[in-house]
Amino acid sequence: METKSKDLRTGRTVWQAVRAPGVPHRPLHKDIDTEVLIIGAGITGAMVADALSASGWKVILVDRRGPAKGSTTASTALVQYEIDTPLVKLSRQIGEADAIRAFHRSRLAVDALAARLGELGVELQRRDTLYLAGNILDANGLKRECEARHIAGLACRLVGRRELRDLGIRASAALMGYGDFTIDPRAATCALLNAAIQNGAKIYSPVDIDDVQPKKATVHALTSMGYRIRARHVVFATGYEFPKRVPQRGHQIISTWAIATVRQKRRLWRGQAMIWQSADPYLYMRTTADGRVICGGEDEEFSDEAARDALIERKTKTLQRKLGQLLPNIDTRVEFAWTGSFGQTDTGLPTIGPIPRMPNCWAALGYGGNGTTYSRIAAEVIAGALNGRPVVDADLYRFRR
Ligand SMILES: Cc1cc2nc3c(=O)[nH]c(=O)nc-3n(C[C@H](O)[C@H](O)[C@H](O)COP(=O)(O)OP(=O)(O)OC[C@H]3O[C@@H](n4cnc5c(N)ncnc54)[C@H](O)[C@@H]3O)c2cc1C
Repeated sequence: METKSKDLRTGRTVWQAVRAPGVPHRPLHKDIDTEVLIIGAGITGAMVADALSASGWKVILVDRRGPAKGSTTASTALVQYEIDTPLVKLSRQIGEADAIRAFHRSRLAVDALAARLGELGVELQRRDTLYLAGNILDANGLKRECEARHIAGLACRLVGRRELRDLGIRASAALMGYGDFTIDPRAATCALLNAAIQNGAKIYSPVDIDDVQPKKATVHALTSMGYRIRARHVVFATGYEFPKRVPQRGHQIISTWAIATVRQKRRLWRGQAMIWQSADPYLYMRTTADGRVICGGEDEEFSDEAARDALIERKTKTLQRKLGQLLPNIDTRVEFAWTGSFGQTDTGLPTIGPIPRMPNCWAALGYGGNGTTYSRIAAEVIAGALNGRPVVDADLYRFRR
């Protein structure tokens, strides 16, 4: 099997409360040829297909589950330019100039994605982001992060206890960032897939790719039913089901949990900024368009799916308690609880680019809590390379030896 099948998520996510928009797809019963084959019809595959089909490429997507049926539906979909690793820490890891470039590229990707989703009529909520002090960056650490971001030209400001209390948030210090947004990840993915279909892309599902064989000028992908898809390029947008021959250095799969409350009758915190804490265990929250609060985190460093699922009840209670402590005016009754596998890397940066020793094969593996932002960057990098206009920042995300 090209990627080991996992139980990516368990529980009912808040997005499943409404019907997903239809995305035409069909099973595959013959050998076919295409210019680009994308393996994976989640939010990453959708963005890559949207970008490539818009620039005239003949695109086929395949998925073993179906459109937006993998991790995408588990995402809490905070779309942020602030990556998981603070700028001060990333600067120590990869150097200040590259760390600033990574933050700038994410800033650009968030804005470009908002524009594209707006063009497609996808509902999104522009939000500021409050990064709360915790056991990773305390109040002094946030001050240093604020200075580093100012040097990089990124707007932000420190917020103290009193101002946070006036917003309805019980915390000691935070860094306010601007211009991020929230979406319904499943609805956004379906809209991007349908846009690609309008440009001639086709989706085949359920189709499981068993083996990918790069040849001289083409790549052959073999399905579990014995059919062959011949393509000039293959893009692996397989999420947390990592391709077997792709180097995995620096990647880990962990487990994470999330809840969504009942619809709030009282006013939510002022501005409804997305909130995330610079802490381990991780904690974050956002609101939904219909007035619920989503709260997630409590990550554990294991990937065993049975152990992960067994903890749903306990983690729900912990998230509920922490939510109530931070936002004392919120009704914390839970209506949805779910868990999923989650990828992270040592630097918080994803892996995007040509796969070593697999000619014409590309990785769009958008790991971490900024998966959505990275999916957009993957689409920009891969479309740029295939169109002969390489993206200047592509080197930040390529495979490291
Ligand atoms: C609880 C939770 C909360 C999250 N919160 C956020 C958040 O707030 N913000 C954010 O940006 N990100 C968040 N993420 C991360 C986000 O969900 C991922 O970055 C994103 O869903 C990855 O999308 P994808 O398309 O790469 O993967 P997926 O949606 O998993 O799509 C990959 C697809 O590839 C298919 N596939 C794999 N192997 C094969 C094969 N061999 N043959 C055929 N098909 C194959 C799978 O069936 C799957 O549908 C969160 C994740 C979780 C679990």
